[in-house]
Amino acid sequence: MISVEEATEIILKSIPVLGVEKVDILNALERVLGEEVYAPYHIPPWDNSAMDGYAVIHRDIAHASPSTPAILKVVEDLPAGYTSHRALKQGEAIRIMTGAPLPKGCDTVVMVEDTETGGNQVKIFKSTPQGEHIRKAGEDVQQGTLVLSSGTIIHAAGVGMLASLKRSFISVYQRPTVAVISTGDELIDVDGILTEGKIVSSNTYSLASLVKEAGAIPLLLGIARDRAENLKEKFKAALSADMIISSGGVSVGDYDLVKDILKELGADMKFWKVAMRPGQPLAFGVIEGKPTFGLPGNPVSCMISFEQFVRPSILKASGHRRLFRPLVEAELKEPLNKKEGRTYFLRCLVTVEEGRYVVTTTGEQGSGILMSMVRANGLIILPEERTTFKAGEMVKVQLLNRDFEVQEYPEYS
Ligand code: AMP
Ligand code: MG
Repeated sequence: MISVEEATEIILKSIPVLGVEKVDILNALERVLGEEVYAPYHIPPWDNSAMDGYAVIHRDIAHASPSTPAILKVVEDLPAGYTSHRALKQGEAIRIMTGAPLPKGCDTVVMVEDTETGGNQVKIFKSTPQGEHIRKAGEDVQQGTLVLSSGTIIHAAGVGMLASLKRSFISVYQRPTVAVISTGDELIDVDGILTEGKIVSSNTYSLASLVKEAGAIPLLLGIARDRAENLKEKFKAALSADMIISSGGVSVGDYDLVKDILKELGADMKFWKVAMRPGQPLAFGVIEGKPTFGLPGNPVSCMISFEQFVRPSILKASGHRRLFRPLVEAELKEPLNKKEGRTYFLRCLVTVEEGRYVVTTTGEQGSGILMSMVRANGLIILPEERTTFKAGEMVKVQLLNRDFEVQEYPEYS
């Protein structure tokens, strides 16, 4: 049986990166940038005032003090959005607002707080250092520099920067479409009628949500019955997507037909099992160029297998550079035991106590116990070769989200 690491490597090698598409800037949020963005001009484009005050020639105010103020002639009033065509001469000042381009001739801005106006004169009571309160052209971004590189996630500040560069449209990586098939005669859809022996196909919805959370687009193909024809039909329909995931039907039972169907459809099957728990049965292959994951049916197994293998694949296809969830070291609050030869993923709650991570399991770890997954914000990863873990040991934890319990939250009152 191959290890989690080997499986990850095999899978990621078979995942093609999708092409790019143009989106308008408001739809660029959280997308992965698909081009190198260079600045076509300086930001700010010209030297401008950082304060409301007076643009002056430093020499004129160098010795100003409360008892010996510099007295200058105010020759113009310059609001933001306008340019002065004047060149400032000795003894003159221009009243200037924050953001207005610095007029020619001046080299310093004095804050309005250090002045007093009367008529067309201004008294300056303080010597401001030369060059003070001026934002230099290009101090934010120099013309020609690489502002954002391909593969970065676009956040709000990035959107603002793209707008500053007049990029109303931007190339981003396409979001993969992911077909989701649930298999099993026992399944009904969420609005179906629960009769003896039937359960709701919760995997359809947990998997679709994981797909969305990874930034991809789920294509819900519903439930396939445990019959070859029905399964084949669903998998064929799924080929319109960029990637295919199914749940159930991959273990060794009489009705576990997924493996055979994938082979029949010409899948280049890479493996059937991974040395992990939960989630040992896992079929991975490529059908007509489409990566296809036969995830296990148990509600937690399929989610954990998705987390380890499908999520990084979606992220790779979407042009991301960072494919894996963050890993932290946390102090284990309870002793744990496991069998040798498999990597365990235990549902857990990571909390922050006195600035460090501590971790407890969230209860019963059976592969069908969804409730302990509901409570979890992470997965403790216990390595294949080890069997016993003591309370107080540091263990690796994969963070599934950022909903931490911390001892103190800032309160709103
Ligand atoms: P299987 O691998 O098909 O034998 O399924 C393993 C277990 O997971 C069984 O108890 C199934 O009923 C359950 N299961 C399979 N598919 C789903 C699903 N879509 N939603 C919820 N439970 C499922
Ligand atoms: Mg089944």
